[in-house]
Amino acid sequence: MIIKQALISVSDKTGIIDLARKLTHYGIKIISTGGTAKLLNEAGISVIEVSNYTGFPEMLDGRIKTLHPKIHAGILARDDFPDHQQALDQASILNIELVIVNLYPFRQTIAKQNSTLSDAIENIDIGGPTMIRAAAKNYQKVAVITDPLDYSLLCDELEASNKSINSATRFKLAQKAFAHTASYDSAISNYLTALDENFLHKDFPESLHLNFNIAQNLRYGENPHQKAAFYRDSIITSGGLGSYQQLQGKELSYNNIADTDAAWECVKTFDKPACVIVKHANPCGIAISESVLNAYQLAFATDPVSAFGGIIAFNRIIDKDTAEAILKQFVEVIIAPEISPEAQQLLLQKNNIRVLMVPLQTESSIYDLKKVNGGLLVQTPDFSNITAADLTIVTKVKPTAQQLDDLLFAWRAAKFVKSNAIVFCRNGQTIGIGAGQMSRIDSARIASIKAQQSGYTLTDSVVASDAFFPFRDGLDVVVQAGATAIIQPGGSIRDDEVIAAADEQGISMIFTGIRHFRH
Ligand code: 5GP
Repeated sequence: MIIKQALISVSDKTGIIDLARKLTHYGIKIISTGGTAKLLNEAGISVIEVSNYTGFPEMLDGRIKTLHPKIHAGILARDDFPDHQQALDQASILNIELVIVNLYPFRQTIAKQNSTLSDAIENIDIGGPTMIRAAAKNYQKVAVITDPLDYSLLCDELEASNKSINSATRFKLAQKAFAHTASYDSAISNYLTALDENFLHKDFPESLHLNFNIAQNLRYGENPHQKAAFYRDSIITSGGLGSYQQLQGKELSYNNIADTDAAWECVKTFDKPACVIVKHANPCGIAISESVLNAYQLAFATDPVSAFGGIIAFNRIIDKDTAEAILKQFVEVIIAPEISPEAQQLLLQKNNIRVLMVPLQTESSIYDLKKVNGGLLVQTPDFSNITAADLTIVTKVKPTAQQLDDLLFAWRAAKFVKSNAIVFCRNGQTIGIGAGQMSRIDSARIASIKAQQSGYTLTDSVVASDAFFPFRDGLDVVVQAGATAIIQPGGSIRDDEVIAAADEQGISMIFTGIRHFRH
């Protein structure tokens, strides 16, 4: 199909002059809207203005530009239907075989800090998506370009195929076009939905429009026989893994990304310099201290065996000394808000290590998603971060100030350990982590075995349990191991029995009223 007429109407005018010049060179006539036509005319390229062609001026501040039968019939008429062609001839309508459109910048508008609802509304493109959809529907005749990055592909093919675009390319462009309008409309839908200030507290939307764009194809999924890719959240533009910058190292794998996310989200919750080491989605060491170097050494010491091949996250700049210390262990990924030039230089010694930087921001998804076969589970993320003011002391013995600090630290740590989670801590360091067991007692036992293996005693430790103790037996295990203060949600029907057990053992216990299951 030789292209004779092209319609160009673009908001993002990048590369459009060069492209239009080439189209003219191939003898293709250009029809164009106000702003685009003006730019091309000024560049000395002759174009037909849509309003001259339709005989109808643009109106309503640009809300109506191309919404005219002369445009849409030219795009939608089938070239293999003689009566369609006859109808065009009778109405003096030209066939349009190439549509180059990109839309009003809706996403960029709402991303601006002081944008208003009315700015957003004015940036909902109407005529553009209509042309894109018409062109994509009629891909057997029309090629539709929505992405300036495809201009070179277009030119190469026009050159190679005598001013035509082959049907396989037109089909691919149509797929891309519908993906583009679908994503555009879902951005609008999500924006309007989120404006309802109560929307997180009441019903979820009737249907959910997810807005993720491909960031990279991955070599494989959780296992080598699974295919995989990473999609970037189009709403969270900074502070999450979607905005990572990789300084060195091998390509990230599927498991690297999942584990790095767990480590990064955990380390971000601490105010003091912190280090989190993750293996298989669970922390095997978490510590806060006066420096990241200290925090790293403490986190590593929690469970040096498991830390082998781990993901290490920091909430502060990594300095030279910390980089030097990390280089002594086998590590898969390092992530931090910043890495000093000296530290970067040192890390190059092991250039397989993946080193990532992500801005330390707390921007967060509005939904947590979990796929089940045949459905999607959606919840609001677990934002809860309690402070001392939210706690209820339920025992006769009260925790000391140091214990209280450690209990709050243990509680934050336990939130990132898979349930059932039992986390022993002392002086801002995890010293025994029991994760992912089907029984809370087994998690408690594993946590104390782990502490022993790393050479720690649990004497005078504090312990966090991510959910309540259903019976006193779990409490007895942690106290026997050496814990002298406990933090847990409370809320069991046997709370009285558990509180009595704590009093009998002479330890302190506080209730948070909040549970942190993590599956
Ligand atoms: P220009 O800068 O050429 O005046 O306008 C280009 C933009 O207008 C493109 O983003 C295109 O999608 C959009 N557009 C084209 N026709 C219409 C229309 O009839 N209504 C609206 N609202 N936008 C249109």
